[in-house]
Amino acid sequence: MTTTQGRPTVMVIGGGFAGFYAIRRLQRVLGGKADLVLVTASDYLLYAPLLPEVANGVLEPRDIAVPYRQTLRGVRVLVGRVRELDLTAHTIGLDCPEEGQVDLRWDRLVIAPGSVTRQFDIPGLREHAHGMKTLREATYLRDHIIAQLDRADALPEGPENDDERRRRLTVVAVGAGYTGTELVAQLQFWVSRVTGRWGRLDPSQVRWVLVDVAPQVLPELGSRLGAHALGRLRRRGIEVRLGVSLSEVDDEGVTLTDGTRIATNTVVWSAGIVPSPLMASLGLPTQRGRLEVGPDLAVRGAPHVWALGDAAAVPDLAVSERSDNAGGRPITAPTAQHAQRQGPVAAANVAASLGLGVSRTYRHRDLGLVADLGGWDAVAKPLGVPLTGPVAKAVARGYHLLALPSLSARVRVATNWLYASVLPTRVARLDLVRRDDALIDRAQGIEDAGVPGS
Ligand SMILES: Cc1cc2nc3c(=O)[nH]c(=O)nc-3n(C[C@H](O)[C@H](O)[C@H](O)COP(=O)(O)OP(=O)(O)OC[C@H]3O[C@@H](n4cnc5c(N)ncnc54)[C@H](O)[C@@H]3O)c2cc1C
Repeated sequence: MTTTQGRPTVMVIGGGFAGFYAIRRLQRVLGGKADLVLVTASDYLLYAPLLPEVANGVLEPRDIAVPYRQTLRGVRVLVGRVRELDLTAHTIGLDCPEEGQVDLRWDRLVIAPGSVTRQFDIPGLREHAHGMKTLREATYLRDHIIAQLDRADALPEGPENDDERRRRLTVVAVGAGYTGTELVAQLQFWVSRVTGRWGRLDPSQVRWVLVDVAPQVLPELGSRLGAHALGRLRRRGIEVRLGVSLSEVDDEGVTLTDGTRIATNTVVWSAGIVPSPLMASLGLPTQRGRLEVGPDLAVRGAPHVWALGDAAAVPDLAVSERSDNAGGRPITAPTAQHAQRQGPVAAANVAASLGLGVSRTYRHRDLGLVADLGGWDAVAKPLGVPLTGPVAKAVARGYHLLALPSLSARVRVATNWLYASVLPTRVARLDLVRRDDALIDRAQGIEDAGVPGS
């Protein structure tokens, strides 16, 4: 075994929900008995479920970025992107922003690089659409929407500018799962409250279109809550177009698969996810692109390697069959709820492989999802109980506060929620992110990986 001063090196790739909770537990169970290394693309855990609240300005980006240097003392954190993984030679190739290419060895490896936005071969999508998976994307989208309001307001009055004004004041979001639905609902709520600050605009001029090929919104929450959410969105003036998708995107708008043309400068794409491109490079069995593992999260055919979170196909022992998994064995949904709970199981099994404690299998009954639609609109299904309105909103906020992994993050988020409820909504355009850097491939590091994300 490769050791540093007699200690094995335990490496975790990816510091999201899965990797963070794995290494945090490893810290406790292995103490000084192993060198713990976290290799990850940023120096913070991103609490992704609250990204829409960064896009609408209720929260600041740092509120949902939990720094490893504060929460993971005693862990060596290496910020960079893993390019190569050799499961036989026990090495990784890492691209670091400062040092360039670095090769590292490990004795035990936990793989948790998460997922990226699923893109299809739709002409213009990669060049014009923006996703919602990173702080860069959320920050850009907020500034971009404010910029569209600025420019629409600045256009001289007159019919010759009507088309451009309409285009700038139209937002098309694709994907009516929880990410797309929450995002469009929260953005609409925010913009409708501030549009009056532009002297020549009013909220009714801003057009919101939510598109999905599925027959309902929020399928994760079931048909009853989906129908409730749909009613609320439509009452607020959001056009929801179901059963269609995009056939083309260009710099003047989108064409839907039913032939409808919508002129817009703002296309938000959140039509699902695919596992990190790193998984496909391993040449091991996958299910829907997720690396196959056993109930103990161990990667078959690769001793001393475990995988978890969105990147792994973890058997779901708590359900006998899952409708979204036609033909295969049931696997856990790609949610933070599962990823966070798989972390400690992987940690226990790494420790057991080093002779400390006993190994465990992963089993967790889904607690349900929440969706905050802005204002007092929300839907939630905790433990299968359908909730709507202010009660669902309270459950959603309580859930997020509990799930945030540090006390200081909880205090910051709770304080900003309080401020947002009593102070005027902030509208300042900071232009911190360039448009091209916020495109899905670049923002999510898909380009860097050199592997297509579809
Ligand atoms: C907008 C939004 C809302 C959501 N809402 C909910 C919700 O309400 N409830 C819920 O349960 N789930 C929700 N999710 C899903 C949840 O965020 C994911 O399921 C969860 O983050 C998966 O955890 P993970 O650790 O597998 O991956 P991630 O959290 O994505 O972490 C992956 C980590 O790997 C790093 N990484 C990636 N590639 C590399 C590489 N090549 N080299 C080094 N490091 C790498 C990344 O920087 C990151 O730190 C939401 C997601 C989004 C985007």
